[in-house]
Amino acid sequence: MIELIQGDITQLDVDAIVNAANESLLGGDGVDGAIHRAAGHLLLEECRQIGGCPTGEARITKGYNLRARFVIHTVGPVWRGGHHHETELLRSAYTNSLKIAAQHKLASIAFPNISTGVYRFPKQTAAQIAIRAVKDFCEKNSFPARVIFVCFDQENFAIYSQLLSK
Ligand code: ADP
Repeated sequence: MIELIQGDITQLDVDAIVNAANESLLGGDGVDGAIHRAAGHLLLEECRQIGGCPTGEARITKGYNLRARFVIHTVGPVWRGGHHHETELLRSAYTNSLKIAAQHKLASIAFPNISTGVYRFPKQTAAQIAIRAVKDFCEKNSFPARVIFVCFDQENFAIYSQLLSK
């Protein structure tokens, strides 16, 4: 079941929220900074122990002060014109996050619009990749049963509304 909301992912009461992190996992701007601020400093400590995450992969931590029980940190690609495996890497970021959720039998997971902020991935294409990856995964797996796309900006919300209404 796919849901769409516009808002702040840090406020959601779900099993896991996904963080659009960078390879260091040591925090950053945008949704990454918001998640770290809301979760508290113990999240940064756990991320430090993990020691980083390559682009396209994902890692799980606890949620600390968040209402979400877990944070799944994934690293989307920086958009560099479209000929540097950006499509495959963005799809992998979604699929590897979902795999971790399935391994932990998490029922609900919320995604931000990975790579569409500072990493400049074109929003329409990113949304198509995200929705395809989630649908493909959910057809074959019983966990997670509930996937929420959380759009912060109006532009992404309009794109997702249109694509999901088809
Ligand atoms: P990236 O480096 O992967 O592009 P950003 O954090 O810069 O990551 O942006 C990813 C998306 O997260 C953007 O669409 C941005 O609007 C959105 N975003 C920023 N803050 C929040 C938040 N608190 N909740 C949900 N989404 C957010």
